[in-house]
Amino acid sequence: MTGLKVEGLKVVYHRSILALDGIDLEVPKGSVVALLGANGAGKSTTLRAISGFMGADSARITAGSIRYGGTELRHLRLPATTRHGIVLVPERDKVFPNLTVEENLSVVVSSASRADRRRIEEAVFTYFPRIASVRKRAAGLLSGGERQMLAVGAALLCAPTLMLIDELSLGLAPVVVDELLARLRQIQAASGMTILLVEQSAAVALSIASHGYVLESGRVALSDSAEALRGNPRVQELYLGSGDRNTYRDTCLEGGPRRRREGEHARP
Ligand code: ATP
Repeated sequence: MTGLKVEGLKVVYHRSILALDGIDLEVPKGSVVALLGANGAGKSTTLRAISGFMGADSARITAGSIRYGGTELRHLRLPATTRHGIVLVPERDKVFPNLTVEENLSVVVSSASRADRRRIEEAVFTYFPRIASVRKRAAGLLSGGERQMLAVGAALLCAPTLMLIDELSLGLAPVVVDELLARLRQIQAASGMTILLVEQSAAVALSIASHGYVLESGRVALSDSAEALRGNPRVQELYLGSGDRNTYRDTCLEGGPRRRREGEHARP
């Protein structure tokens, strides 16, 4: 099975707000690729389009293709995309706060067999012993890091081959981010899963990805190997900052790039 290939993807909100203006990106099978960019650049929209989470809030794909494993996904919506092995770990509302950790895992709808489900659940608790120790606790009482681990764990129950992760590191202490990244590497190495990781923190994303794309105003502004991006002066200035853990949020121009309307062209 081949990886993910997105070509000429355009997404419009409310028939007029052009969120993605023809982006191309590739995530080879078994690789980890980072999608970077400022607030409003179009990162979450890209993940929404790939995972089929369109329709709500009048989001619509108006052009382009999304091919995964040889299948065109452009017209597929959730949960059909899940059946193709794609799962999204969203930026917000990752867990049900009133359900316990165990209940959060048990409500995941998955085509995995009962035996596979049990096996994956045990694997989740092995990968994330911190959530194993609080399995009877309501998810709303967990720390941000534990909630993130639970969200990744719940996504794993869908037995994905492509995991889309939105802002893994947001609001978490560096030590927690390091733990999450280490687990993700382990999971990826064991499963051969393909990962597309959206991050504002270039330092975090480029520490695990082999390739990265930088989005600006709904377009791909840069595409290069993680190593080259780390050494790129523009990325260093805007996305890495002077400190290792600085994010674009800390360093970017105020407000980020202006959003164009559909049909309006970028200024030269
Ligand atoms: P952030 O890092 O802040 O989450 P992002 O790079 O993920 O930003 P998107 O959330 O994809 O960016 O937003 C891309 C553009 O689409 C922005 O201009 C945003 O204002 C617009 N947009 C996003 N969601 C909606 C919506 N539900 N309705 C209207 N416009 C939206």
